[in-house]
Amino acid sequence: RAKECGRNTFALYKKEMQAVSDARLEMEKALHHATEFKLFELYYQPQINDQNELIGAEALIRWKDDKKGFISPAEFIPVAEEIGLIVEIGDWVLNEALSQVAVWLKEGKWQVSWRISINVSPIQFQQAGFLPMLKAQLQKHDVPACCVDLEITENMLLNDLASSLEKMNAIKSLGVYLSIDDFGTGYSSLKYLKLLPIDRLKIDQSFVRDLLTDKSDEAIVHAVIAMAKALNIEVLAEGVETLSHYDRLREINCFCYQGYYFGHPLPPDKFVAAFVHD
Ligand code: C2E
Ligand code: MG
Ligand code: MG
Ligand code: MG
Repeated sequence: RAKECGRNTFALYKKEMQAVSDARLEMEKALHHATEFKLFELYYQPQINDQNELIGAEALIRWKDDKKGFISPAEFIPVAEEIGLIVEIGDWVLNEALSQVAVWLKEGKWQVSWRISINVSPIQFQQAGFLPMLKAQLQKHDVPACCVDLEITENMLLNDLASSLEKMNAIKSLGVYLSIDDFGTGYSSLKYLKLLPIDRLKIDQSFVRDLLTDKSDEAIVHAVIAMAKALNIEVLAEGVETLSHYDRLREINCFCYQGYYFGHPLPPDKFVAAFVHD
């Protein structure tokens, strides 16, 4: 009986494993399809300064599957990275964001002092063709480099410091800005902050969320802000959801923010209607 029971458990386990791998294969297939036919959209979330002025927007990818509805990028970007599709998707994102900003510039709906923040996957960044692609896109859309901010993550820097440094310097010499996304959640060393040409740290929302109640989080955010100031790096707090967060951040000298308190990511027309005033 025990043997039989064990066998049944194993059969069940196998069935579940099969379901997981079927779902995974289905997602890979759907991702290939979505990439080939450009079935993605970009949403835009406002970035705000302490004067309550717009200073830019983060472009965030959205994928609406026919069957499953919206699938979170937190779910499909890691899959796209694993199967190598992220390069094509990332190139699409850059093209789409720059083409949108070019239109807004022409329509007087984007100021040259604002930055469009674009997430760049480590795999995309490490491609030999990344820099030429970036240059070509800037030229093609005729968007000033100072309107563009690339968000990279700390973990990327671990792989090959020398080549990261070289590439980042080349990006800086174009006039494009560089930010570290989700700062504090990765493995980067403080040495990198000193060595690399970084313009902005985006403090991860996990530290901002409990800022008002958790003494450790408050200490961390405080320390990051002080360190960044000494290194002449700007700090932006992610995940600002309430007025009290905003007030507290302002008190501790954090002057750039992004989060639901100011606005959710929105499609281009809604973003302009909500945040761009002439
Ligand atoms: P991220 O770059 O750190 O983006 C911030 C995420 O936090 C976004 O989720 C945004 O909608 C969400 N968020 C913004 N404000 C708040 C807030 O006040 N509270 C809370 N709880 N969340 C907030 P989203 O759009 O689902 O994106 C998730 C992640 O997917 C991004 O994290 C980024 O790592 C990745 N991603 C999104 N778009 C792209 C893309 O175009 N390329 C690449 N490579 N990755 C992307
Ligand atoms: Mg980001
Ligand atoms: Mg982030
Ligand atoms: Mg994040």
